[in-house]
Amino acid sequence: MPMEYEVGDIVKLKKQHPCGSQEWEILRVGADFRLKCMGCGHQVMMPRRQVEKSTRELKNAAGEKKN
Ligand SMILES: [Zn+2]
Repeated sequence: MPMEYEVGDIVKLKKQHPCGSQEWEILRVGADFRLKCMGCGHQVMMPRRQVEKSTRELKNAAGEKKN
């Protein structure tokens, strides 16, 4: 069952950002996601497929796990 990514969710990825954080806030969903690093605020665009493949954990804005 595919995970339901929503704006405001926090996704933890396998790959660590250079600032040391693995957690990203989802700012936009679609074919490409816009993610904001929770550590340094850096924003990136990432294809949905790549987000799905590298997701370790998905939490909603309230911190409840979705996977
Ligand atoms: Zn960062």
